[in-house]
Amino acid sequence: MKPADPRDITIIGGGPVGLFAAFYAGMRGVSCRIVDSLPELGGQLTALYPEKYVYDVGGFARISARDLARNMIEQGLQFGAEVRLEEQVQDLIREDSGFTLTTDLGRYPTRAVVIAGGKGAFAPRYLECPGYDRLLGRGVSYHVKDPALYQGKSILVVGGGDSAVDWALSLKDHTRRLILIHRREGFRAHAHSMALLQRAVEAGTVELLTHKEVREIHGGDCVTAVTIFDNRTNEEMRFEIDVVLALIGFKPDLGPMARWGLELQKNSIKVGPAMQTNITGVYAVGDICTYEGKLELIATGFGEACIAVNHAVHAINPAARYNPGHSTNLKIFKDREAAESAAGVAAAD
Ligand code: NAP
Repeated sequence: MKPADPRDITIIGGGPVGLFAAFYAGMRGVSCRIVDSLPELGGQLTALYPEKYVYDVGGFARISARDLARNMIEQGLQFGAEVRLEEQVQDLIREDSGFTLTTDLGRYPTRAVVIAGGKGAFAPRYLECPGYDRLLGRGVSYHVKDPALYQGKSILVVGGGDSAVDWALSLKDHTRRLILIHRREGFRAHAHSMALLQRAVEAGTVELLTHKEVREIHGGDCVTAVTIFDNRTNEEMRFEIDVVLALIGFKPDLGPMARWGLELQKNSIKVGPAMQTNITGVYAVGDICTYEGKLELIATGFGEACIAVNHAVHAINPAARYNPGHSTNLKIFKDREAAESAAGVAAAD
């Protein structure tokens, strides 16, 4: 397979943090390429919760995940970053001039690599109960792609994290019946969501059952019922339902990156203060990296992307300063604004 044209930086992952890294690479005047296994850019924002609102990104009091992804794509690709979607990364081969990153479809020479792979490949956790595999896609689902599909249906939501609670709250007013079960008393979901859930339970729009797990999902061609059990007493209950939404999280899965020789802590990549991994020239940012005090937030991921790219730029070209300076003063934007204003004057003439 013929290698693609070399790039200064290859970013693995086209989620918000990878896109911000692409923006920074462009702003610093280096070439970059984004590689992602998903069919669209945006990472979790588009793949997991496009309809939800995000409240903790600077500059937006509230923004839907879909709109945030759209803005991030506009910002991230403005300097012409190349995007390779639906490609699974395979190997990282060290070369004299840096690396060649291989995917199932291509070979990508690069001076540096920034891994912004989120939680890794999305590997949903599955319910281990009879009926789950057989009815997956026929009433059983591990994500919500199109909320309209659940209109007027009886739904069992499983889970105690933000996905389960947020979707229970989003769907409750459009379903015939919505039951939320969780395997213990404590929830992982945000306190604010739990307060809203409590209100929905009091209003009778959500039936909440704790210490319950799924024993079996019933149905022929599609889901017709579910049997759940109390994990303290083993007492069983059966509900006639149309849909089981098993929103029980995702397993971190580094896939082939796990064999690159990166220093790992559980399923995360250990990084130093410059976001560098133990492999010189390879940086990791966002949810996939770990260090003391790490917070898995988009907001912190942006800062990590900025640090990683600026260090990579300096490593690629030691004459380039690490500190980019303030964007308000940068020549790259001033030149563009001058060109835009000249084009505007020419058009007006
Ligand atoms: P999660 O936070 O990992 O929660 C998964 C839930 O499923 C947990 O409550 C867990 O129970 C339960 N669970 C796991 N395996 C189970 C099994 N075999 N049977 C029954 N229950 C099981 O996953 P998530 O809710 O998908 O969220 C993933 C990440 O995305 C989180 O960081 C979350 O905050 C984030 N997210 C944020 C938003 C938002 O901010 N609006 C929305 C969606 C997701 P235990 O608690 O007992 O382990």
